[in-house]
Amino acid sequence: MPLFGIGSAPRCALGYEGDTMALSMREVAEAFVALEKSSRRTTLVAILGDLLARAETAEMERLVYLCQGRLGPPFSAPEIGLQAKLMMHAVADATGCTEEAIRHLYDERGDIGTVAGEILPAEGRGISLMEVYHQLLAIATASGRGAQAQKIGLLADLLRRLSGPEARYVLRIAQGRLRLGVGDATILDALATSAGDPSLKEAIERCYNLSSDLGLVARVLREEGEPGLRRFQARPGRPVRPALAQRVASPEEALRRLGRCQAEPKYDGFRLQIHRVGDAVHLFSRNMEDVSGQFPEIAEATLRQVGAESAILEGEAVGYLPETGEYLPFQVTVQRRRKHRVEAMQEAIPLRLFAFDLLYADGREFLTAPLTERRAALERLVTPTPDSALALSPVLVTDDATELERFFDEMVSEGLEGIMVKRLDGAYTAGARSFNWIKLKRGYRAELADTVDCVLVGYLYGRGQRARFGIGSLLAAVYDEKRDRFQTVAKIGSGLSDEGWVKMRELLDQDSVPHRPARVDSVLQPDVWCEPHYVVEVQADEITRSPLHAAGRDGEPTGYALRFPRMVGWIRADKHPEDATTVEEIIEMFRIQRLRATSAL
Ligand code: AMP
Repeated sequence: MPLFGIGSAPRCALGYEGDTMALSMREVAEAFVALEKSSRRTTLVAILGDLLARAETAEMERLVYLCQGRLGPPFSAPEIGLQAKLMMHAVADATGCTEEAIRHLYDERGDIGTVAGEILPAEGRGISLMEVYHQLLAIATASGRGAQAQKIGLLADLLRRLSGPEARYVLRIAQGRLRLGVGDATILDALATSAGDPSLKEAIERCYNLSSDLGLVARVLREEGEPGLRRFQARPGRPVRPALAQRVASPEEALRRLGRCQAEPKYDGFRLQIHRVGDAVHLFSRNMEDVSGQFPEIAEATLRQVGAESAILEGEAVGYLPETGEYLPFQVTVQRRRKHRVEAMQEAIPLRLFAFDLLYADGREFLTAPLTERRAALERLVTPTPDSALALSPVLVTDDATELERFFDEMVSEGLEGIMVKRLDGAYTAGARSFNWIKLKRGYRAELADTVDCVLVGYLYGRGQRARFGIGSLLAAVYDEKRDRFQTVAKIGSGLSDEGWVKMRELLDQDSVPHRPARVDSVLQPDVWCEPHYVVEVQADEITRSPLHAAGRDGEPTGYALRFPRMVGWIRADKHPEDATTVEEIIEMFRIQRLRATSAL
């Protein structure tokens, strides 16, 4: 049961009572058409800002979620996620067309929203945004025997009341993919615009970083204004957006930047935020999903070992072999991220979470406290217990390069990824990458030590052997945080098995769009474009300048590109497209690579 938000929402009722209905679905669809036509960030912000300004508070909150293709925040909303087949059934029901005819159109258009948009009448019955929202919520929460039929019935009933253009977007929302090119960063800007004060952006962003809930941010903005945003605090039950680390060329550079610092092992598992509220424990993944059910041993250990009624801790969970104490590689650990057969998996791959930060304890928020204070409080709070699933990450505080290097070598020889070096007086930079944390990974002495997390934006059919799979290479991009755009950096043609290629094509085809997606910058034209969705880890030999790629171009004739890129592992389900490596990081990696070439580090 979710703690907050939709489901047991203490802050907003779900019924119609009290909901005002100022915004019609027709107005929303008109704005969405305009959004779809534009790819200029300023235009997107202006259109969405205007729409939000016209909405009542409850509508504004819902609208923000719907723009994300959801009914609530990622950690507590029921998934709508209707299968295309089910939607075709409902479209047939609502229009009186045969299912065969709908399927035929769907095969041609590749999108059920487009199909419904074409065959439903141009005028609807004047339904409000809130009615649409509540009907989608009823569809998402229908469960038990006969749920499937009930969902189809509810959707068909909704479609009968919608115009073609309205249905186009409602069905895309029902799939969880609105494809408007509006990312979280654009929504944050639009919220500031809706309040008529762009200078609120920073306070809005802070509130988002502390809550991971754009709807809640909208509500606080509207009801409490700037003072409310500034007062806003993190609290257990709402995941805090993770702080991220920068890279440097060597332990010496880390020390030059940080002075005396705290070094910790860098575990290669998955990041979890532990939230304890009394006897309840919630575990959130890096992308803010509630994954509590998947790791019962960590939840149990939290109740036993964390000496606070309410707390937020953060750590990295890694698989390990209790007999030898050896850590398991990421590819093995990641198999624990599944919802089924949890008990069997728990036995096969035991987990240990190494806590490395404390963000909240018994009414006190620790985010702005210096690391030394957070660490001391963490050590007071967690009772170490041998062989338990919850442990503290060991630390080394030093200002000595040789000592730091020795610690690094020790960690690598134990099979870890490297070390994290942290600023002693640094705050926890929620949602931001800063030099308060620096990562030094195994193999940093090599040309391009780190892998790059890329977002897939299309694929090419390819020639030769692989052409028979209809996919030969992947067009991959990195994220330009400032502009909220995805810029291509590589064409990846290796790293997948034959089966992997076939599966990849199936997945990408579900996200395919007829033209370059709104937020993508590319010089290359793939055979199939797809919405930025999947993140993959890519290893390359080096970063080069290239006229073929758009990353970091900034008006120059050449961008940055990965040389000899190959995929490692499979899709990173724990990362959103916006969590991919950023253009800034690529430029920084290029700088480190050049430094290394000239100074033989
Ligand atoms: P990267 O994903 O390569 O950017 O490295 C950052 C990630 O390392 C974090 O998001 C954590 O999941 C993970 N990590 C492992 N050990 C630590 C640690 N001691 N402190 C902070 N992050 C860690």
